[in-house]
Amino acid sequence: MDLENTTSVTVIGLGLMGRALAAAFLKAGHPTTVWNRTPARAADLVAEGAHLAPTAGAALKASDLTIICVTDYQAMRELLGEDGIEPGTRLINLTSGDSAQARQAARWAEERGARYLDGAIMAIPPAIGTPEAVILLSGPQADFEAHKPALDALGTATYVGADHGLASLYDVAGLSMMWSVLNAWLHGTALLRTAGVDAAAYAPFARQIAVVVAEWLPGYAAQVDAGAFPAEVSALETDARAMAHLIDESEAVGVNAELPRLFKAIADRAIAAGHGAEQYPVLIEEFSRPHGG
Ligand code: NAP
Repeated sequence: MDLENTTSVTVIGLGLMGRALAAAFLKAGHPTTVWNRTPARAADLVAEGAHLAPTAGAALKASDLTIICVTDYQAMRELLGEDGIEPGTRLINLTSGDSAQARQAARWAEERGARYLDGAIMAIPPAIGTPEAVILLSGPQADFEAHKPALDALGTATYVGADHGLASLYDVAGLSMMWSVLNAWLHGTALLRTAGVDAAAYAPFARQIAVVVAEWLPGYAAQVDAGAFPAEVSALETDARAMAHLIDESEAVGVNAELPRLFKAIADRAIAAGHGAEQYPVLIEEFSRPHGG
């Protein structure tokens, strides 16, 4: 089967994201079949050259490769359960879900003889078709390699491992990073606004801190992987004193201190467990079990 960029592709689910995916395949020259529960949403794509399949089952059979992108896994199962997948179907599910759903969907698809990759889209629809759109894929590596030339039409297709749950796990890990950085920036902005500094003035400084901290990650990751946390630059108990200062300052100027209190509560637990003289990444032990466990 020719899986170069003439690969025929089906896109099932033409919401905001599915329409962007189908448009990117069309733009890259792939023969593109589409299907959506509400057929009217296919109109612009059909005008651009897509073929509208009459049923989801017909859409699945129409192409070398099928991408499904609907609201959730339940919608996917309802859809594919109706018309069915068959041995040899090549399916990539870009619907958001959790790692257990991804593994379960993979078992379900593979029991029916399909070749299944699970994926997560770390981008908004307007970015699809550009390198900024990172598409994480997990499942059999040979299938990823076979489909990569087609997936390159969507953005930066990135393989994260054979375990079908990994794309979802990377996706949520990225969300945790994103919200943590944004919350910390907003807390700092609230502190500075009490002294008349506007958000735009603080943003370049905050950006620089984020860049510097990002540079620490490879070395800190090596400590986490080695399970050894020598205090090379700072001990956790030093950080905890700075956290107390951050709480005090927040309370004194009347801004929300929930975030630094959370930081300190986590650090205090590790210090109470005897880790005060070790370096910050020792907190991985606090993050690796349920709260208070
Ligand atoms: P959306 O605009 O709400 O579209 C949802 C799609 O799912 C529509 O095609 C809808 O069909 C279909 N659908 C829902 N339930 C269905 C069912 N029971 N049977 C058949 N079709 C059903 O959502 P979206 O933004 O395209 O998001 C789709 C997926 O991409 C989600 O998992 C989302 O988390 C993920 N994602 C989205 C973004 C983003 O920025 N939009 C970013 C990353 C990931 P109808 O048109 O008939 O309603």
